[in-house]
Amino acid sequence: MLFFDSKRFFPMTNWKFRASEVQVKLEELANYSEVKDALARPTLSKSHKKALEQIQIWMQEAGMAVVNDHAGNLIGSLKSKIENAPTFLMGSHVDTVSNAGIYDGNLGIIAAISAVELVGSSSSEIPYNIDVIAFSDEEGNRFPDTLTGSQAVAGTLDPNALTVSDSEGITRAEALTSFGCDPALACNSSYLDERPLGYLEIHIEQGPVLEREDLSVGIVTAINGARRFTISVGGNAGHAGTVPMSMRADALAASAEMLMAIESIAKSDPGIVATVGMLEVSPGARNVIPGHVKFSLDLRGENPVSIDTAQASIFSEINNIASPRQVKIEWSQDYKTPPTFCDPSLGELLEESIRESGVMPFELTSGAGHDAVAIAELCPVSMLFVRCEKGISHHPSEAVKLNDIAKALEVTHRFLTKFGQTCLRNG
Ligand SMILES: [Zn+2]
Repeated sequence: MLFFDSKRFFPMTNWKFRASEVQVKLEELANYSEVKDALARPTLSKSHKKALEQIQIWMQEAGMAVVNDHAGNLIGSLKSKIENAPTFLMGSHVDTVSNAGIYDGNLGIIAAISAVELVGSSSSEIPYNIDVIAFSDEEGNRFPDTLTGSQAVAGTLDPNALTVSDSEGITRAEALTSFGCDPALACNSSYLDERPLGYLEIHIEQGPVLEREDLSVGIVTAINGARRFTISVGGNAGHAGTVPMSMRADALAASAEMLMAIESIAKSDPGIVATVGMLEVSPGARNVIPGHVKFSLDLRGENPVSIDTAQASIFSEINNIASPRQVKIEWSQDYKTPPTFCDPSLGELLEESIRESGVMPFELTSGAGHDAVAIAELCPVSMLFVRCEKGISHHPSEAVKLNDIAKALEVTHRFLTKFGQTCLRNG
């Protein structure tokens, strides 16, 4: 009897070919935009609707049943043949910033559909359902809030989010109605009765770390917490020619020293990033000593204790600088989110899947927020980062190599298969 070698009869999946299919779909999806010659797809817009119609077709072609929920999300389900099987979630956001690239968010939807299609077409039965979700609102590119699509799925959407308005005075409830949703049902999640087993989001890194490490993909361990402050420095305005240097309270010179201190404190802890991105000088004339400066501080990190320590050092240093310069400090905290930790066991499955795909497993944190932050309120989450060129995102020059998409697909497919095996082991 001849030995049946399955590897010879069923050749390896051509990941590069599947990656090129994903690439073609991403390019096609980029045509669904509110403006010509650029990608801008705000939540609940006409282009959002059109994009979902197209994604629905792709989901159906991949063997999924599709529903629209009442918060503008599209959900495609690959059902296990096992009765009452639990569900695993995948997905990312379909909305984009203005003048966006084609990968941010959308890669996580299209790559998930491709991986799920392959799982569905395999001869072995999966012991769990997979839902791929195209989340409606991650970028906050229409209403003042963000993550409302994934919050609706997690069952944490605040009903007040329905009353906020866009720049034209249209409320979210009105926008949902024109989108075909019933806003009265927007906050009802169908996932609360039987919580999903977990969530995997594939997303471009939006940073330069994987490129520096020469790696296609990486495992996200945490999504950094962020705090934002406004700091106001009050000095004395005066004539640039007549006030002696020793008698000045120059708010801008003091702020400059504070900015350098912030940078050096952040540099002293590799787990912290601090950015001053906005600075307003008044009166803002070349012959007047700056009397007042207002600047922003964005402070992020993976570990709440490190963020606390950095925050305390920064404000203590700001006060130390202010006092001899005789400037007055006022500050307010405008925003605070805690870090979100990815699930270690899902992370381990990702690690094995990455290693078996021929890539060195590498862990990193996410400096940017993602739908995974909201979904973490519902179930354990994991994220697979894909290298993007120069770390550029939110720009048309956003670029991902075909080979890296291929690796992401291979890793995801292995992950889903392994996840099935753990489901069976755990009954
Ligand atoms: Zn994104």
